[in-house]
Amino acid sequence: MKVLKFGGSSVRDPQMILRVIDIARACLGEAPILVSSAMGKTTDMLEAAAASAEAGERSRAEQLIDRIESDHVHAAKALSTGSEREPLMTAVATLSAELRSLIHGITLIRECSPRSMDAVLSFGERLSTTIIAAAARERGLNATLVDARTLIRTDASFTAASPDLEATTALVSDRLDPQPGSLIVTQGFIASTTEGVTTTLGRGGSDFTATILGAALGADVVEIWTDVDGIMTADPRVIDGARTIPAISYDEAAELAYFGAKVVHPYTILPAVQREIPVWVKNTSSPESPGTRITGQADGTGIRAVASKSGITLVTVRSSRMLNAYGFLRALFAVFDRHKVSVDLVATSEVSVSMTVDGDTGLGLLEHDLQELGQVEIERGKSIVCLVGRDLFERSGFVAEVFAAVDPAHVRLISLGASEINLSLVVDEGETEGVLRRLHEKLLAP
Ligand code: ADP
Ligand code: ASP
Ligand code: MG
Repeated sequence: MKVLKFGGSSVRDPQMILRVIDIARACLGEAPILVSSAMGKTTDMLEAAAASAEAGERSRAEQLIDRIESDHVHAAKALSTGSEREPLMTAVATLSAELRSLIHGITLIRECSPRSMDAVLSFGERLSTTIIAAAARERGLNATLVDARTLIRTDASFTAASPDLEATTALVSDRLDPQPGSLIVTQGFIASTTEGVTTTLGRGGSDFTATILGAALGADVVEIWTDVDGIMTADPRVIDGARTIPAISYDEAAELAYFGAKVVHPYTILPAVQREIPVWVKNTSSPESPGTRITGQADGTGIRAVASKSGITLVTVRSSRMLNAYGFLRALFAVFDRHKVSVDLVATSEVSVSMTVDGDTGLGLLEHDLQELGQVEIERGKSIVCLVGRDLFERSGFVAEVFAAVDPAHVRLISLGASEINLSLVVDEGETEGVLRRLHEKLLAP
């Protein structure tokens, strides 16, 4: 049993969808499940349409929905000429009409709750998979579309729902029976609550869907098909000399994903680790390229890759109460706990603690409560640059090399994971690219 996940760029137009069908056909003997994202930038457009509707910009919202509908009608027509044509065109028209009335409702009440947003966003994956399944059938594959909302159960944290793996495993074994020679097609990203209300796993969450399904079914392998040749030593859009990493361990891949390597969603690795399922990252436009294999085994030691994550806020609390006192950090983190703000990196001295948090929403109240503990400084517009590898300190002169490469950027915080697989630096957003480039050149060039 095999799970194949295709990202938005892999299904962005009819030609790409034909490639996807060829890839699925080639592994029909392995009882494949195909998980697809929305086509191209559809999710961005849906998000913009919902925001425009909420803002009362009715014609802008309608324009976006017109565009989404015509893109899908075009793809559906191009991919079906025979018996699938009529039912497919009807299905696309029905979904588009449903989407249109939802957007109209948002325009009327001028409010788009996270729950409504998830309902809107779900149309991207529902449209793409309807087209892919029909196109596959028209090309002779025995393809069945299964709605992922009947498979993946989550809590009600709309726009970033957490899966209930136990309930999901029960649903999946009840409803899916992958067989060699047949293809199951389902949506990434979307799921539902116990009450059947549509949720999503957060942007980029289709990768997560793939490993959740893979774990629930005990798949032999999960393949993440995307627009680059696997996990690379850096984001190839930023660093020209980035190279494919042939093999990487689960923990290194998870660190990279968490600290900004968008190629896999941060939560993707967890379900795979639990069932020890190998995950491959491959290029849809170049299926013959080997890609990257992610497993529990480390592939030697040394530096593997650099990644970065922007939109970071640095929160510093200074207080002389910390001197020789215990209980201060507990009180400090209790405030973060109360406000449900999660901290990534921490550095402490005798009189101050600096922490990074993702984004800057909801920090006003947090700042207010932190002020009871000391003087608070909030610095926005930072980014985390992260080096990932194994036994980083075994490389002699490692820290000196890192500092030489980072210079002249102004480093605000440094954190070296005790596991020695991650060294993270906090710099100004504007300095990120330069730091990445110099680190890659000095430490990762062949
Ligand atoms: P998909 O639509 O297939 O899910 P994404 O856009 O989410 O694709 O992820 C693929 C992109 O991730 C690549 O185009 C690349 O720019 C980016 N990326 C960032 N860091 C890395 C990295 N270390 N290796 C490969 N790709 C990376
Ligand atoms: N379509 C969703 C997004 O664009 C999920 C995904 O592609 O993984 O975020
Ligand atoms: Mg992605």
